[in-house]
Amino acid sequence: MPLVLSGRKYARVVRASIRNRVTELNGSPPGLAVVIVGDNAASKVYVAAKEKACEKVGFHSSVIALSGETTEADILRLIDELNADDSVHGILVQLPLPDHISVDRVASAVMPEKDVDGFHPVNVGRLWRGEDGLFPCTPSGIVGLLHHHDIVLSGKNALIVGRSNIVGKPMAALLLRENCTVTVAHSRTVDLMKQCRKADILIAAVGRAEMIKRNWIKPGAVIVDVGMNRNSDGKLVGDVDYDDVFDVCSAITPVPGGVGPLTIAFLLENTFKARTNLLAK
Ligand code: NDP
Repeated sequence: MPLVLSGRKYARVVRASIRNRVTELNGSPPGLAVVIVGDNAASKVYVAAKEKACEKVGFHSSVIALSGETTEADILRLIDELNADDSVHGILVQLPLPDHISVDRVASAVMPEKDVDGFHPVNVGRLWRGEDGLFPCTPSGIVGLLHHHDIVLSGKNALIVGRSNIVGKPMAALLLRENCTVTVAHSRTVDLMKQCRKADILIAAVGRAEMIKRNWIKPGAVIVDVGMNRNSDGKLVGDVDYDDVFDVCSAITPVPGGVGPLTIAFLLENTFKARTNLLAK
């Protein structure tokens, strides 16, 4: 039987640790400002979840909701104000943004020390250079989860399927820092199944329901399924066919309850870290 890597349980451990550290702080609690632009229903749900998570660990949070017609200049002005506000330690701009706003310009406007999403080019550079910084929440959470379960990473062949800036690429950088031998696959990869079969650690971050099957898996592999998809029955499933691969792998994250809960838990970690680093400056 493989080890089921429960992100839900691990996220609880992370939140409890943060809550304890908050009670030991002198001075103001960590503060997170979340900017949401437009009327995206899923974004509203995510933002509400982030607000609630902040409250539960004793952070101060504020949500700034702007209309979908807000100009890029107005958003950049707001970010400048938040950068200058000492009670705000972390700034998160909820994606997606309306088409007339450049995600890159907005991400670059957040000062690196408050960039709790880890999207600023300075933090991206620090990540790849092996320096300290704020790094994307989902991949950071995955590394935390693997460590929590004492899964050996050093020297292992890791394959990441997906090369997005949010998951795939930072995941590759973090696993390289863990001394994995890292391969990144994507939609142009030739013979993906063959690549998967070489992987001791397989991270699927594609967004295609249950595309990875049993005969793609190296026996004993550790599988982390980042994908969140609806199958034809409307059920939430990952990129990996969980039931099909279950008894071939040595460990696997379920969907839901695997990677999903880690993202907000590590947003809280990043916000705590941002506060600590800003006060140390
Ligand atoms: P993107 O759409 O930005 O990236 C998907 C990647 O998958 C791309 O690099 C793409 O390749 C690659 N890809 C697409 N089709 C194939 C294929 N047939 N074979 C191999 N590679 C393929 O997605 P994200 O990285 O943002 O998210 C990936 C999944 O993870 C989604 O299901 C998303 O919902 C989920 N997710 C979950 C999170 C959580 O649980 N907290 C957080 C973030 C994401 P190419 O670059 O060539 O186009």
